Amino acid sequence: VYKALEFADKNSDTIYKKDTVIHNPQIIRDVIKISGCRFKIVARPDEEVEKEENKDAVPAPPAPPERLRPRPPVVCVMGHVDHGKTTLLDALRDTSVVDTEFGGITQHIGAFEVKLPSGEKVTFLDTPGHAAFSAMRSRGAHATDIVVLVVAADDGVMEQTLESVRMAREADVPILVAINKIDKPGVNIDKTMRALAQHGLVCEALGGDVQAVAISALKRLHLDTLVEALILQAQLMDLKADPGGYVEGVVIEAFVDPRTGKQATVLVQRGTLRKGCVIVAGNGWAKVRVLQDSAGASVLEAPPATPARVLGWREMPSAGDRVLEVESEKRANEVMKWRHNQRMKEKQESDQEAISIKESEHQTQYKQMLAQKRAMGRFRTRPDGPRQKMIQEDDHPTLSVLVKGDVDGSVEAILDILETYDEHDRVKLELVNYGVGQVTPNDIEVAQAFKAIIYAFNVECPPALAVEARNSGVTVKRHNVIYKLVDDVKEELSARVPLTQ
Ligand code: GDP
Repeated sequence: VYKALEFADKNSDTIYKKDTVIHNPQIIRDVIKISGCRFKIVARPDEEVEKEENKDAVPAPPAPPERLRPRPPVVCVMGHVDHGKTTLLDALRDTSVVDTEFGGITQHIGAFEVKLPSGEKVTFLDTPGHAAFSAMRSRGAHATDIVVLVVAADDGVMEQTLESVRMAREADVPILVAINKIDKPGVNIDKTMRALAQHGLVCEALGGDVQAVAISALKRLHLDTLVEALILQAQLMDLKADPGGYVEGVVIEAFVDPRTGKQATVLVQRGTLRKGCVIVAGNGWAKVRVLQDSAGASVLEAPPATPARVLGWREMPSAGDRVLEVESEKRANEVMKWRHNQRMKEKQESDQEAISIKESEHQTQYKQMLAQKRAMGRFRTRPDGPRQKMIQEDDHPTLSVLVKGDVDGSVEAILDILETYDEHDRVKLELVNYGVGQVTPNDIEVAQAFKAIIYAFNVECPPALAVEARNSGVTVKRHNVIYKLVDDVKEELSARVPLTQ
């Protein structure tokens, strides 16, 4: 493990702050200080940085059955464009606020609850369509229990209707059909149902098991029947959750309000969220200061399947983030630090991947370039393997070199200079291989086979490889000034001049 004193990544322009832990030393492009250079890179090995233990917050194991209590269903509205999803949600949201003391102030918080006179509730996700559904699924937060598929009776089954069916099926979420716009003259509900049946969605009226309710979102007809059908569906599904223990949930929406600051709507899925709870979610965490329901009223607690607007975020989460309660602010800070380090590590790994891709591109370019040069007779290279070398062995003393450099420009410059020594009067200079990037195990193998010296210009030879090189009798010489590298080559050539009798 390395720790940066100051560390920059040449390829991505990323500057790593002092003491950033660098888990992958391969991305350290240089360990020398080049003053005045923007990419000043200084790093040192640091044995003190021990392997960190996992400090992340994790969901609790499933609750024992005796702790489970029935909970309301969470419903997502999907369907073809213009079939009435938004109108339906608006109508349902309006009915949801009528009987609260804050009656009339409908605020959009990403989800709302509809309460029947019987006391039963349904929670609706407030953003219609595929996007909301996919966003909730993409991060593994299976927030939706039932999909309401809105099909306009005048338009029938359309492309996005079928797409919605497919998505719901893939997620294994049951569908309830709302045949909308029945207020329009001449619409044919039966025909819509038959069209759905052709795609495997057989409504109860046609002998299947899919509930269908004919509604008018605009005229607000049969909306209570729709909600009742959803509650029936939920009962069939036996939806339950543990209202005790640590809170778990998902962030439905997050934004900064110019007046009240950072806010996020949390859909509670387990436990009961209360004022004072400390929660972490993605890169964010909060000590819950204020809890509000979808009508804007302050509430004391939010049990499972309840959406609640949470104020008190120190760092913002993002929609779709998993919410987990932790025991203290100290613990939340620890989790945030751990997640930050994990992100840095992942970034470094993906940077390294990008570097490797670039390097292999350079290698390919160089192979092509050298093939051309060879064809023009500029170099006498011998990349044909040790056997070839034995066949070609002659009395003439030879210096074999393998050149690695940090960028294509430097390798090219070194090759151009070495080319002028190619015809040294008494010692042959032979280039056995070359390339961009740090010294690799393959380089050491090739160098060993050809008894070559590896010249590494502005690139690392990882410590493990340095040991391997030593054991294989391969010399690796590192330079960061071209003329010094060339002087070194000259010295090696001179050392091989045979003594004259
Ligand atoms: P969305 O794209 O699925 O969200 O559809 P909208 O809710 O925006 O509705 C599209 C159009 O259909 C709007 O002009 C609505 O007023 C109209 N509309 C929605 N529901 C009904 C309905 O039940 N009856 C009638 N006649 N029009 C409706």
